[in-house]
Amino acid sequence: MIAAQGILTSRGGKTSHAAVVARGMGKTCVCGADELEVDLAGRKFTAPGGVTVSEGDVISIDGTSGVVYEGEVPVVASPVVEYFEHGRAGDADELVVAVDKLMRHADAERRLGVRANSDTGEDSARAVRFGAQGIGLTRTEHMFLGERRQLVERLILASGDDERQAALDALEPLQRGDFTEILEAMDGKPVTIRLIDPPLHEFLPDLTELSVKVALAENGAGEPGGASDKDRKLLEAVRRLHEQNPMLGLRGVRLGLVIPGLFAMQVRAIAHAAADRVKAGGDPQPEIMVPLVGAVQELEAAREEIEQVLADVWKETGSEVKTLIGTMIEVPRAAMTAGQIAQAAQFFSFGTNDLTQMGWGFSRDDVEGAFFSRYIDLGVFGVSPFETLDPDGIGRMVKIAVKEGRETRPDLKIGVCGEHGGDPDSVHFFHGAGLDYVSCSPFRVPVARLEAGRAAVLEAAAGSSDSR
Ligand code: PEP
Ligand code: MG
Repeated sequence: MIAAQGILTSRGGKTSHAAVVARGMGKTCVCGADELEVDLAGRKFTAPGGVTVSEGDVISIDGTSGVVYEGEVPVVASPVVEYFEHGRAGDADELVVAVDKLMRHADAERRLGVRANSDTGEDSARAVRFGAQGIGLTRTEHMFLGERRQLVERLILASGDDERQAALDALEPLQRGDFTEILEAMDGKPVTIRLIDPPLHEFLPDLTELSVKVALAENGAGEPGGASDKDRKLLEAVRRLHEQNPMLGLRGVRLGLVIPGLFAMQVRAIAHAAADRVKAGGDPQPEIMVPLVGAVQELEAAREEIEQVLADVWKETGSEVKTLIGTMIEVPRAAMTAGQIAQAAQFFSFGTNDLTQMGWGFSRDDVEGAFFSRYIDLGVFGVSPFETLDPDGIGRMVKIAVKEGRETRPDLKIGVCGEHGGDPDSVHFFHGAGLDYVSCSPFRVPVARLEAGRAAVLEAAAGSSDSR
């Protein structure tokens, strides 16, 4: 994905992890075009009507309409995006002058803060240029893709304490570097760092591929040296950890509580990065967020470990950096027990991707292409609930959690970091629900600013007409 100029997939939906990574990188992406038949071995795909596109052929994709073109379509840079990237030039055209005026007005009126979801220093710096007031979500598992994936694999598959510790020791300096970059780009602004939340299947070798490799080798049919002892051991472990529903499996806080040292390693890296920034004269404002909590006891257990590690690092480095500890609210049970969870959380951030997935009981990776158009025809919903928050069901959970969370802790800071944070209608909903901020991918930050301003203006207008 890093190498790609654009991304087209036959599977997945708007909030599948592939799509959120692409959006975060600002890459054009069309996800879940399930009429495409992908022939991996032949390195080609076939579109409806029989058009075949082979590796090396050029296609063009329109991320807004979802249209895919054969060949190259000429494109021009958007003057509005250029304005957000570089500010307004003296000779700006009429459109840019109007956008500039509108954005200033929206910023002056809005009550909602706007943060960005970002996993790198570079994206964070762009988010600031686009007007983000902080980072609402750093997905740390994205820091372990590419070459680093094997370190997480080693960690998950470690058979003893020494092996596990070796993998953690290799990961810690990489994490420290990642966090230092982001805290530097976001100096003086809050940065919510979410502890690792990897659905296991994204980090382990594919069960089928590995089974075939080992089976062929055992029958003498594979390539010479095709499967080693390591592959056989790996297969055993992958079988042991295989999950039918990885999105509902050993993820988030569950993984952190099961794999000793994992959260501690990340917290140590965050604390050292913050202490390094203080030494360099910076003003780091880290916030540590625990994912996938469903019960206050999970958060309490994680928090105890986090506080211990923070205390150790502050003692070791001699600098103490104020660090909030909070949680995602993305499991329905968390929303329904928000009053209890707020006892252990200094902030909430709604993960509306998972809350929608678990609230409706449909997989964010699979269902959009499978039956959503039929559901829209039938009027079950007007738009995918992964795109615009469903106000009656998932929204109701959000409202209950806001109310009960603040009853327990009146100063509870509350935001949203699911993809809905950058969707216009959903931003209006979050304004009405009394959230403090929305967080979305850097390229959607201007939209969120604009809509947050409109929500405030509309509310004021409705209030003044009510009082007349
Ligand atoms: C969410 O569930 O809304 C969220 C932000 O977390 P992720 O998309 O990484 O699961
Ligand atoms: Mg989530």
